[in-house]
Amino acid sequence: MSENWGFDTTAIHAGSAPDPATGARQVPIYQTTAYVFQDAAHAARLFGLQEVGYIYSRLTNPTVAALQARVAELEGGAGAVCCSSGHAAQIMALFPLMGPGRNLIASTRLYGGTITQFSQTIKRFGWSCKFVDLDDLDALRAAIDDDTRAIFCESISNPGGYVTDIPAVAEVAEQAGLPLIVDNTLATPWLCKPIELGATLVVHSLTKYMTGNGTVTGGAIVDSGRFDWSASDKFPSLSQPEPAYHGLKFHETFGALAYTFHGIAIGLRDLGMTMNPQAAHYTLMGIETLGLRMARHVENALEVAEWLENDPRVTSVTYAGLASSPWNETARRVYPKGAGALFTFAIKGGYDAAVKLVDNLKLFSHVANLGDARSLVIHSASTTHSQLTDEQKIAAGAGPDVVRLSIGIEDAADIIADLDQALAAATA
Ligand SMILES: *Cc1c(COP(=O)(O)O)cnc(C)c1O
Repeated sequence: MSENWGFDTTAIHAGSAPDPATGARQVPIYQTTAYVFQDAAHAARLFGLQEVGYIYSRLTNPTVAALQARVAELEGGAGAVCCSSGHAAQIMALFPLMGPGRNLIASTRLYGGTITQFSQTIKRFGWSCKFVDLDDLDALRAAIDDDTRAIFCESISNPGGYVTDIPAVAEVAEQAGLPLIVDNTLATPWLCKPIELGATLVVHSLTKYMTGNGTVTGGAIVDSGRFDWSASDKFPSLSQPEPAYHGLKFHETFGALAYTFHGIAIGLRDLGMTMNPQAAHYTLMGIETLGLRMARHVENALEVAEWLENDPRVTSVTYAGLASSPWNETARRVYPKGAGALFTFAIKGGYDAAVKLVDNLKLFSHVANLGDARSLVIHSASTTHSQLTDEQKIAAGAGPDVVRLSIGIEDAADIIADLDQALAAATA
């Protein structure tokens, strides 16, 4: 719909025409469970997937559909499916690809909850995950086996703000005939479009920067529409007859939209991880200002990271936007508009000083969230990453002396002043 629109125009207009019934200019919240069929034949066509339309809000809802269209457009994908949270998006993204005995390969540098989901919870489905340092492409190649069905990474990764060389990882995935799934939560399509860089699928926690104000949880899966699901016998859910739809083959029938239709017609229908229309509305409003917010987030993050790096009370700062970071070359090449606004720093004085710092910050909110307009702080080792072993904590960049910051869009001087007084209290 938006052939030549720039990012900000797309963020405001994609997926949202005036409401045909009322002329309402903002996307209405269609607070309805079901939709009246025109007649019995219409209902039968919808149920048989011979016609696309609204049946029941577990599968599709017009407010959610507007958000799906907008996120797909911003990411440059063929289609998107929204769901109840970022974690739901990860399970839904893997669901058509995996099966008992199959594995995925994931980066060692991930959101703490994702490490738990992949190392523990998915085992109950008979799936497993191998964690690999994706900076080591030989290790990635060596980890791929006949049962591997996907490679998973975060563009900019939690909690350290490290960056993944998506084009390099995508090349390995392509050679192996495997889909690459990129969690683009921390970069957002404003800083990085993984599909342009070779990713097959993009997942989001819309909870974070996309909504941008800490109001709702939501997730999305965007499909590039480019992967040939029928090239091998590895993806039978997409290439083989589906018994629950009279033997319909998704890839043959829907082409570039096969994965998206499967996500709705099987994923949402049977897993039920549905996004509600109210949440979709908040997220649509948030996305309208995504470009403005991300520009300010990265400007503030760089200023704060540089200030911290030069402070004698600080041992190290992980921000990939800093010239001193080992990831700075990758950041400049793959994420030229900035390395996001989430990073960690280590404080002199270890665990005790880190906890004291968190307790003394006033402008920063101590919460288990990120990507809010407000600046946020958390001590990962005692909270988000506490379920991990010490080895996993350090691999994930969440050691005992490490504090994670999500830099908001307040005035940078006020953010720095707050850190300054809390560092003084913590290291006194
Ligand atoms: C928050 C987050 C998730 C999980 O999203 P929820 O909406 O909280 O379920 C996944 N990945 C990353 C990078 C996140 O920051």
